[in-house]
Amino acid sequence: TIMNPFEYNANPGRVVFGSGSINKLPAEVQRLGLKSPLLLSTPQQTSHLDDLAKVLENGNIKPAGKYSNATMHTPSHITEEAMAYLKENAADCVVSIGGGSTTGLGKAISVRTGLPHISIPTTYAGSEMTPILGETQDGRKTTRSDPKILPGTVIYDVDLTMTLPAALSATSGVNAIAHAVESLYASNTNPIIRMFALEGTSSLAKSLPTIVNDPHNKDARSQAQYGAWLCGITLGSSAMALHHKLCHTLGGSFNLPHAETHTIVLPHALSYNAPAIPSQMADLASALPESNGDAIHGLNVLLEKLKVKRALSDFGMKEEDIDKATDIAMSAQYPNPRKLEKEKIRELIRRCWAGEPAK
Ligand code: NAD
Repeated sequence: TIMNPFEYNANPGRVVFGSGSINKLPAEVQRLGLKSPLLLSTPQQTSHLDDLAKVLENGNIKPAGKYSNATMHTPSHITEEAMAYLKENAADCVVSIGGGSTTGLGKAISVRTGLPHISIPTTYAGSEMTPILGETQDGRKTTRSDPKILPGTVIYDVDLTMTLPAALSATSGVNAIAHAVESLYASNTNPIIRMFALEGTSSLAKSLPTIVNDPHNKDARSQAQYGAWLCGITLGSSAMALHHKLCHTLGGSFNLPHAETHTIVLPHALSYNAPAIPSQMADLASALPESNGDAIHGLNVLLEKLKVKRALSDFGMKEEDIDKATDIAMSAQYPNPRKLEKEKIRELIRRCWAGEPAK
């Protein structure tokens, strides 16, 4: 059959991948003609910041400073505080080390100042591969996309992921798979992105169960990080659909944790869309071990092995929130392969809340 027409744009960005690649940071800073990086992390990852400072000093680069107050959902008062610190210390670039929260702060500073951003991701969330930034002000989250938001250089060093706790590794990995899944049926999908999506999903689905049982398994960690990179590319290149809309709705309105919410919602959102996307379901099944040709079954098997929580009620969502979540999910819809029917969406959200398996 003739191929569907498509458009493909590669996001520009340099990737340095491999165990020990953090030691290449000084060379990367020099390559850009810079000398005074501001280092960014969350309060939980200050030891990673100290490691970075040592690596830079070994390469004769003196960091302009360390700012370790990065916070989930990129609150603008934190960005302003970091910007003031950056100006005081005359930094000429930012280096972020951490998960999506820290990458978000690096993006927020970089897009405001025009300074280069080197991102060193330590989870599987994939933000480093996207030109997207979500920020909160007075409790309201707004998201924008701008090519200037994409970090110029990304260093993937598996060694930095070894301390990611098993539970967060599992949910962060499924968060990555969710990006790939939605890119398969995105309104602007194309064969290149689908190739990344299937390879990324397969790498993560194979490695995550090993990581959960043996968090120090470096081979599995490396395979998961490779998968997360590919899944991040798919997120940065595709229009997301029902699954991401539901997760944004639920996370933003009921303050539910990011990766855990993605993990609970994914099989349900996929099951809703399944009748509209038979060929994508077959492709996805081929990337999931033990799926027996059924992608939903394959996902359920994976989530079972990862020992993750399956109910939004486990994270404090209340039964009376189901109707409110349904209304928000039905408003300002993202393009989706299957039309949204309110009663069916309500039932989907109810099943996520109750933790009933997707069918
Ligand atoms: P996170 O960045 O909030 O990290 C969770 C916690 O784990 C933090 O305390 C962090 O310091 C810690 N941590 C991270 N890596 C660690 C490691 N290797 N060892 C020990 N501790 C570690 O979590 P996340 O899931 O990576 O990111 C979620 C946030 O990123 C959300 O706000 C989400 O909206 C955003 N996000 C944005 C995009 C985008 O494209 N803009 C994509 C994905 C996620």
